[in-house]
This record gives sequence, structure tokens and C-alpha cells, in this order.
Amino acid sequence: MSYTIAIDGFSACGKSTLAKAMAKRLGYRFIDTGAMYRMIALHFLRQNVDLEDSGAVAGAMKGLRVDFVPGSNDALLNGENVETEIRGGAVSGMVSPVAAVPAVRRWIVPQQREMGKAGGIVMDGRDIGTVVFPDADLKLFITASTEIRTDRRLAEMEAKGLAATREEVATNLATRDHIDSSREDSPLRQAEDAIVLDNSNLSLEAFIEAGMAEVEKLG
Ligand code: C5P
Repeated sequence: MSYTIAIDGFSACGKSTLAKAMAKRLGYRFIDTGAMYRMIALHFLRQNVDLEDSGAVAGAMKGLRVDFVPGSNDALLNGENVETEIRGGAVSGMVSPVAAVPAVRRWIVPQQREMGKAGGIVMDGRDIGTVVFPDADLKLFITASTEIRTDRRLAEMEAKGLAATREEVATNLATRDHIDSSREDSPLRQAEDAIVLDNSNLSLEAFIEAGMAEVEKLG
């Protein structure tokens, strides 16, 4: 069987780590939709797009290509590898307002559906189980404590050589969670049929096993 697996949750709670590991074990494609919104945000940042100006937003999306490097899954913006740049403070600071613009979501969601239409995909984000693939075979909703999420994101940024204080990271996560949950278009919420996995007290291995156990239950 080639299942469609949707993984959603708040910022920095381990969604992409789980999605990537499950996709690898299953031989499925992994899509990090957060990276797609981050690429659009970087493009808007570079072009100085005013989010209030619908003409400028539409113009900036014309000819825009948001993709991934085959194999490595690095973010590819108009053919340029921007994997490190999209994880930095400048993009993290403006990605949620960009992702709240309905025209942006109307442009990117059909591309995400296209990527997953043949099944055999693990896609993570905020609206995958609710909007992108409401009929997904498996929906997981990931949670973790705020302290753990902040520690992990800080460690990830340090590993990439990106500078940030603990306070900056904590504030960014809280701000994004607020914007993502309160926006009108496709707000972050747990799908009714999603299974909640709290990984606050789980090792990485146990977390992946918990996700895989849910796949095994599908038969
Ligand atoms: O997953 P990540 O934290 O990289 O996502 C960055 C931002 O992209 C989120 O804070 C959210 O604003 C937006 N996003 C979204 N819908 C998704 C995935 C991400 O709105 N499916």
C-alpha cells in the first residue's frame, strides 16, 4: 500500500524529524511544507514585497519556483539551494505573516496536493490533515513542551551556524504559534481524526517507533 501520511503540530515540535525518518523507513517521499512557506517568505523578503499590496504579492509569485533538491530534500528556490538561509532569523521572523496571506496558500496548496496525489508520501506542516489532505490515511498531531521545543530549535540553529539567543527563539516560536493558530485561512488545529503524539519525554528512537506503530495499525 502507498499511504498518504499527514503530520501537523506547533512550531519546532519534531514534525519534520519524524516525517523524514518515517518516509525513509517506508521508502516514501518526504515533503516539508514549512520549507515551502519559508522559501516564499525569503523570496518576498528579497523583493521587498508589501504583504498588504495584493498586486505586489501576485506579481512576486509569477514565475516563482519552490521545490526540493532530489535526494537531499534541501530547499530549492528558483533553482538556488537556500536550505540554510530559510532557517535563519530573518525568514523565521516573517514566515507566519506570509503564510497567513490567502493568495499565498491558494498558490501553494494545489502544488502540495499534486506532489502527494499518487500516495506514498509523508507531508508535514500545519494544515495537512485539515486542508491539504483531509482524506489522509494517517494523521498525526505532534506536541512537545515549550522548553523542549526551544532547546531543540536553538541546538538546530547552532548546528547550522545560525546565531540566536534562547529568548529570541522562544519569542519567535510563541509568535508563530499564535499567528498560525489564529489566522482565518487554514488555521493550525488538530484534525478530529488525528492521533496525538507528545514527544516531550520520548527519545528520538521511541518517537519514530510510536509513529511507525500507527502506520502498522493501518494494516
Ligand atoms: O514547519 P516550519 O516551522 O518550518 O514552518 C514555518 C511556517 O510556515 C509556520 O510557522 C507557518 O506559518 C507556515 N506553515 C503553514 N502551513 C504549513 C506549514 C507551514 O502555514 N502547512
